[in-house]
Amino acid sequence: MGCEVAVRHGACAAGYADLPGIGTVMIAAFPSLTDDGPGLIARYARGADYHTVVAARLEAIRDELGVIGTVRVDSSPVPEVMAARMAGVGKTGRHGLCIVPGYGSYVALGAIVLDRGQGSGFRGQLLTDAGFCGGCGECVRACPTGALGGERLDRERCLSFITQAKTLTAVQEALLKAHPRHWGCDTCQEACPENKNAAMTALPEFNASGAVREYCPGMDIDDRAFAWRGRDVLERNYRLSERDTP
Ligand code: SF4
Ligand code: SF4
Repeated sequence: MGCEVAVRHGACAAGYADLPGIGTVMIAAFPSLTDDGPGLIARYARGADYHTVVAARLEAIRDELGVIGTVRVDSSPVPEVMAARMAGVGKTGRHGLCIVPGYGSYVALGAIVLDRGQGSGFRGQLLTDAGFCGGCGECVRACPTGALGGERLDRERCLSFITQAKTLTAVQEALLKAHPRHWGCDTCQEACPENKNAAMTALPEFNASGAVREYCPGMDIDDRAFAWRGRDVLERNYRLSERDTP
């Protein structure tokens, strides 16, 4: 498929016959790692905004393939991690993220939702029989808040979701104070053996504006994924994290 050249890890398709008006969801994983050092901003958000990068790439792929469909990033009618598993793009980790061989979970997912009747010839293949990671549990043990302790991710206790929330409970404020983060959280991914030696992205768009590891009040946040909830959320995260930041 021609699009494999553009995204480095290809796009496959999975059929979702039950969704009205939708024939196929094509899903692609784009390597996004620009900087592997420690920081208070999660690695996925350090480079240019993946929404913009991925959407532009997928629109080009769609046009190259000559299919009719809508490009979606973080807004697919089928959860993107699940679609990636079904299409054989990556397996699903215990931490709930997509893991792609060679790139680990440091990928940005996007979808082309094809109109019914489009793309019936595209099919993916599962990477493993079940499409899930081996369940070593390193991510569960590493999580500082216990958010992975139950059967599924507890978003109320997950720092990645907490740093994106407009309002926080007292418990969430305490969690963020105890475990400083300006945006997102990589701890479970850092612990994952699938991310050892994960390749840096070769997509120049992600590196175009330089990696940012921390938020600083007043900094230019244009074209950054960590800006999508607005500056007030970042200022709050900064304030709550400041006291404990080494
Ligand atoms: S750390 Fe282990 S259990 Fe967690 S996602 Fe990675 S491989 Fe799966
Ligand atoms: S992102 Fe952080 S808080 Fe959320 S599950 Fe992973 S380690 Fe836990």
